Amino acid sequence: MTATTGTDAGKAALAARLKEFEGKEAGAPEVGADAVNQPMIRHWVEAVGDENPVYTQPEAAERSVHGEIVAPPVMLQAWVMRGVRPRPATGGNARDELMRLLDDAGFTSVVATNCEQEYHRYLHLGDHLSTSTIIESVSDEKATGLGVGHFVTTRVEYRTDDDELVGTMRFRILKFKPGTGRSAAAEEDESREKPRRPRPALTQDNAFWFEGAREHRLLIQRCKQCGTLRHPPRPMCSECQSYEWDVVIASGRGTVYSYVVNHYPQVPAFDYPLAVGLIELEEGTRLVANVIGVDPADIRVGMPVEVEWVDHDPELTLPAFRPEK
Ligand SMILES: [Zn+2]
Repeated sequence: MTATTGTDAGKAALAARLKEFEGKEAGAPEVGADAVNQPMIRHWVEAVGDENPVYTQPEAAERSVHGEIVAPPVMLQAWVMRGVRPRPATGGNARDELMRLLDDAGFTSVVATNCEQEYHRYLHLGDHLSTSTIIESVSDEKATGLGVGHFVTTRVEYRTDDDELVGTMRFRILKFKPGTGRSAAAEEDESREKPRRPRPALTQDNAFWFEGAREHRLLIQRCKQCGTLRHPPRPMCSECQSYEWDVVIASGRGTVYSYVVNHYPQVPAFDYPLAVGLIELEEGTRLVANVIGVDPADIRVGMPVEVEWVDHDPELTLPAFRPEK
């Protein structure tokens, strides 16, 4: 079987074998250890914070439409769950056989995808449940975000001792081949082509600065009224409140005022370790820029640096600073 999976003939042969499981009993019936009872209900509603008195207070329950204590419908599974009791040795069953078949064909990973419950009536104290489980469907091979795989849906029927159907649960899992998902394919793409750096958020106040950078000109905004230089760009002078401004072109020389070396988290557009400096230009303003051309361990506060233009892509040029020659 394993040797032929992956080919169309292999897939068809596997699909045919998987279909044979539909309608089979998944395993031996399960019998609830305890009848529906007040202590289990009380623990359950306390754990989930449900204060509806119809579950725990006999007088309130008597006045309700139910006329007596009822169990929260979503507790359905609890009444038959095996818990930590060991499962009796029963030899193989259809579910185990199906899982083994899928494992052998390479679908070794599993994830639960859906659980739908239907409640046919409220459960009362003393109802004693057991279940039977049918393998309802096994899908053809599907491509999913996690990988290629088969959905397996089982239907569990909950019945009382006098065979009344009180609830149904459909439980769906995906058995898939690890490493075949769309996310794995996307990661491969990323390793082939480095993504572009994030774009700056351009506004009418800062666009001039990035346009200057594209022309390899390091601009500093200057107040037309009082001559104060400012960076980052903003519409008004903080000294004299004037909105009038022009620019000066910086020499590109400065010193490292402060810096960090970023190791983590690693964003794919950048190279690590990533040295980021707060550079004080000789004109007096400061700007944040990468520090390059030096081992990050050798960067020092006060180190003289000079600008080097880095064209990251056709749309984005940014200044970086390297130790002065
Ligand atoms: Zn001013």
